[in-house]
Order: sequence, then C-alpha cells, then structure tokens
Amino acid sequence: RTVYVNGQFVPEGEAKVSVFDRGFLFADGVYEVTSVLGGKLIDFAGHAARLRRSLGELEMRMPVEEDELLDIHRELVRINEIDEGMVYLQVTRGAAADRDFAYPGEEVEPTLVLFTQSKPGLADSPAARAGIKVISIPDARWGRRDIKTVQLLYPSMGKMMAKAAGADDAWMVEDGAVTEGTSNNAYIVKDGTIVTRQLGTEILHGITRAAVLRFAREAQMKVEERAFTIEEAQAADEAFITSASTFVLPVVEIDGTAIGAGAPGPVAKRLREIYLEESRKAGI
Ligand code: PLP
Repeated sequence: RTVYVNGQFVPEGEAKVSVFDRGFLFADGVYEVTSVLGGKLIDFAGHAARLRRSLGELEMRMPVEEDELLDIHRELVRINEIDEGMVYLQVTRGAAADRDFAYPGEEVEPTLVLFTQSKPGLADSPAARAGIKVISIPDARWGRRDIKTVQLLYPSMGKMMAKAAGADDAWMVEDGAVTEGTSNNAYIVKDGTIVTRQLGTEILHGITRAAVLRFAREAQMKVEERAFTIEEAQAADEAFITSASTFVLPVVEIDGTAIGAGAPGPVAKRLREIYLEESRKAGI
C-alpha cells in the first residue's frame, strides 16, 4: 500500500514521522475520514470544510490548499485501486525541538499523513441488513467534541465496553441525554419524526448527519434537532446511526431492549438508500 506523508507518496513501510511529533506526544492533531464508493470520494467538500474548521479552532493552518488535498485523495485512491473503502487524513502540529505543552512557533511545519483502507462490500454490509446493538455509557470525553481531534482513547474504551457486553457500539450519555455514538451520530424515529441531538460543542458535526438531514427534509420527513434520553430511545419506533464509514446504520437494540420490531425500520432503510444513491451521484 502507498501512503502519503508530507508531500510524498511512499510505500507504507518507508513512511516516517518524528517521535517528537505532537500528534504522538499530545494527541495534538485532527483527522478526517472520507468514504469511497465506486472509486469516487463521498462529500469531499464537506470533509475539507470541517478540517479547515478543526484546524482553525486549534490555531493550526491548512498544510496544503483544498484543491491539492483533493488531488492527493484521488491519487491515493487511484494508486491503491480503492473501489469501496475510505481515505484517512491526519494533520498534526508537527515535531517541536523539545516536548513542551505550549504550541511551537510558525517555523514548525505541520505533519500531513493520508492512507487508504479498502473495504469491499462497504455499501452492502451484513450490519446494515441486520442492524446493530448498542449499550449506553457515560460520556467521559473532553468538552470540545466539535473538533475532530485524534484524541480517541475514550471512544476506543467505549467500543471495548460494548464488545464486552455483547453489543456493537456504545451511545454516550451526558446529563441524562444521549450525545452521540463512539464514532457516529445517534438518531431515533417516533411517529414518523426523526430526532437527533442539536449541534453544539457536545458532539461532532457529522458530515453524513448534515447530508442525511437534508435528504430527509427534501423527502418531506419531519426532523427535530434536540436532545433525547435512553428511555425515549428505547420507546422509539426506530433508531439508527450515521457516519462516513457506516452511512446510515439501523440500531435494533439499546441496553438489551429491542427497538420497535427489533429489526431495521422503514425510515432508516429508506434514508440509507437515498443517502447511498445521492452520494454515488455526487461523488467526485
Ligand atoms: N461523531 C463522532 C464522535 C465521530 O467520530 C464521527 C465520525 O468519525 C461522527 C460523529 C460522524 O461524522 P461523519 O458523518 O462526518 O463521519
């Protein structure tokens, strides 16, 4: 596999980043995951815009312009022959001379790394047909979840807690309300209305979330952006998650309680179909 590091396409075994890189020492960096369907990038512009925002919030500059970023994505998809899968991008603040909590000066170049992952069958996954089970856990992350940082240890712990409980993922709860999944946004459907938490610093502003809510409104579905509890979710007709790597994925069980009929519901199925169809059309 070929990866990209700071201006160069190299075999993965030859890629090098300094041990003093602040991404490694402080999780001082941000990332994006863009999915690939039929060899095309899905919602590249959305991911590039969020990257710019994440970097801005951390006072880091874009290491390359957006059109160059697109070229790098496309080149990696081409070289690695990705039909279905994803492109992972990471920008870290780079390697300062010494370990220091304060940010280094402008002279330190950020580190830009991209790689691909091939995932044949991504769009037609068994999980999408069966739905997934989630558990609830306290949201013990930091307070700026709107910045897509590489600080992912608590979401990893959440995923392990879910696995240990025989589930697939965890929904995090803060002050009695669901924030989001470990790596996805969370939704319920009641009497035809789609409910998902409003944007704020408590959740990541999902690129898939924005697209799915747009498609739902265009299809005359009712959408409410507000907080909801686990109890409300357990009493809902349907539940689902969205992310760039799972698209729209039905949730059929929460903390051992079956949701609706305990099988993927019509709203989640329809939104998944619309999302995949529209994304394939708009892919670049
Ligand atoms: N929420 C969290 C915490 C995430 O990590 C992710 C994706 O990685 C999402 C939501 C979904 O965002 P997107 O649709 O942009 O992939």
